[in-house]
Amino acid sequence: MREMSATQLRSLRERLRSLFAAHVAGLPALPAALAAVNGALGRAPTAALLYWDEKTGPYRAAPCPTNEVLDRALAALAANAADLLTGADAGRLTACDSAPCNRYLLRHGRRHWCSTRCGDRARAARAYARRIRPTTD
Ligand SMILES: [Zn+2]
Repeated sequence: MREMSATQLRSLRERLRSLFAAHVAGLPALPAALAAVNGALGRAPTAALLYWDEKTGPYRAAPCPTNEVLDRALAALAANAADLLTGADAGRLTACDSAPCNRYLLRHGRRHWCSTRCGDRARAARAYARRIRPTTD
């Protein structure tokens, strides 16, 4: 069960990555990726329901029966990705600039990397390249 869940989560991650790549490159989405995300969106409602506590009053929470944990996780991830791709921040979505990283980030100022680790790796690679091939100007 755990392995099946992990496989489905990884599969959705790859589909989302392909949609992010298409968006960043200005290319059409792969129909299979769109179908996978829409399939995940339909697996479980992502809206929080209204509950009423006798002492503290109304509150909202997503019900999460144990047998629906995977469906809800897939639906929530798909919903967040769909919101990102159609929201105000979609234009800031960019691929991490540090090979071989395959993550995406929201561009913020001059930031090109998804993490400090990727930034350090990219800077180290640049420094190494300068030592190997010194410029001749
Ligand atoms: Zn990265």
